[in-house]
Amino acid sequence: MNLRKRDRVLVLGAGIQGACAALELAGQGYRVTMVDKAAGCLTRASLRNEGKIHLGFVYANDPGFGTPDLMVHAAVRFAPLFEKFVGRRLDWSRLCARPFTYLILNDSMIGPETILERFECLQGRYREEIQDRRLNYLGSRPDRLFDEIPSDRFADLIDRRRAVRFIDTAETPVRVTALRNLMASALRERDDIEECYNATVKSVERTPAGFRVEGVLPDGTVWRREADMVVNCCWEGRLALDDQLDLRPRRPWIYRLKYRLLADLPPRFGSLPSLTMILGRYGDIVIDPPNPAYLSWYPSCLRGWSDEVSPPESWELACGGLASPEADREMVEATLAGFDSVLPGIRDSRVRNAAAGTIFSWGESDIDDPKSELHRRDEIGVAAHDGYFTINTGKYTTAPLFAEQLGSMITDAVPAV
Ligand SMILES: Cc1cc2nc3c(=O)[nH]c(=O)nc-3n(C[C@H](O)[C@H](O)[C@H](O)COP(=O)(O)OP(=O)(O)OC[C@H]3O[C@@H](n4cnc5c(N)ncnc54)[C@H](O)[C@@H]3O)c2cc1C
Repeated sequence: MNLRKRDRVLVLGAGIQGACAALELAGQGYRVTMVDKAAGCLTRASLRNEGKIHLGFVYANDPGFGTPDLMVHAAVRFAPLFEKFVGRRLDWSRLCARPFTYLILNDSMIGPETILERFECLQGRYREEIQDRRLNYLGSRPDRLFDEIPSDRFADLIDRRRAVRFIDTAETPVRVTALRNLMASALRERDDIEECYNATVKSVERTPAGFRVEGVLPDGTVWRREADMVVNCCWEGRLALDDQLDLRPRRPWIYRLKYRLLADLPPRFGSLPSLTMILGRYGDIVIDPPNPAYLSWYPSCLRGWSDEVSPPESWELACGGLASPEADREMVEATLAGFDSVLPGIRDSRVRNAAAGTIFSWGESDIDDPKSELHRRDEIGVAAHDGYFTINTGKYTTAPLFAEQLGSMITDAVPAV
């Protein structure tokens, strides 16, 4: 297809990926329409995630090291690209929660020495990346990404029979609500981006002139648009639309429904850093005073698993933020009990909110299988099909990078005027 400058682009999905893609393409001079079934932008997985801008530590089990490489590459571009998209410099210290300390648990799938060796490789890759003075990790350029610390640092808080090694890292969670608000303002300010919310996309078809996309509004009215290019950023809704253009992947995939809790921790945990426990079916805690802590314990928070083209309709309620701690009492209790095995006393936390998000990844088996593809997240990103682009975001971390790559792919395909 001959792509011409100033053509109309339809971006499907207004999560972090769709929003970054829309801003990138509008910045290049395209007229963009962004459509989402939700009432606003970044309300789904991009709001439920813990905001970790991955440096690759948690993917230490990827034997080819492709995932840590991609995460470092994306992480040092996250802030510069986000600032480009929202059109201003940001004070990242106001947008971040406490950095992560990694705890290696006593039954980790990989031993501490191997983990530390892999972390050292990561450090080397980061040094190479950061040679480019334009890049930074959330506003700073630390020399070192991690350091092991004595295990008695949190002696009164963490059970040292369970957590055997402690590693401070530069890896940091961003405040996803604050970033959502920045994106929403940036989108609102642009008159070359039309935002269409509450419209569920049902069909995409090629026409002689480009594409026709149809959907429905809440009152049942049909919504229809013609476009020269389509960018599919629908995350859990992506494959169902790709499928209509015969683009079903020829490899296995999994959708997982994963909950997170927001909770007030007992005051004695007030000095805790954010925590990631490795390597296995454990959990993460994000500490961000005065906001509630974010808790997700894998064995109890993983509540759905699907290898269908679309995840079950029944997941909608929790993904739309309509789950309640009362309705999910068993999950909440199991989550607090899981964390209590590492942080005794944390089960007395007061849970304020429970909600879930969907995670799409390649693979067939769960993370307790050392060979599971879930330990890799490097085969993600933009795929181009003659004017139709479909983006497997993979991670919140990688969304700005993929939006920029989309922009380059389109520029390269458009003949100079
Ligand atoms: C619990 C949890 C924790 C996570 N933690 C992290 C983390 O710490 N760090 C990290 O990097 N990543 C993390 N992730 C992954 C990350 O959240 C996702 O990779 C990322 O948010 C996906 O962004 P997206 O824009 O593609 O998807 P979404 O934010 O889900 O956006 C997709 C949009 O498409 C819309 N849509 C879907 N189908 C249709 C349709 N048919 N019609 C109209 N609109 C449609 C949806 O309403 C939605 O707004 C986590 C995910 C979860 C669930």
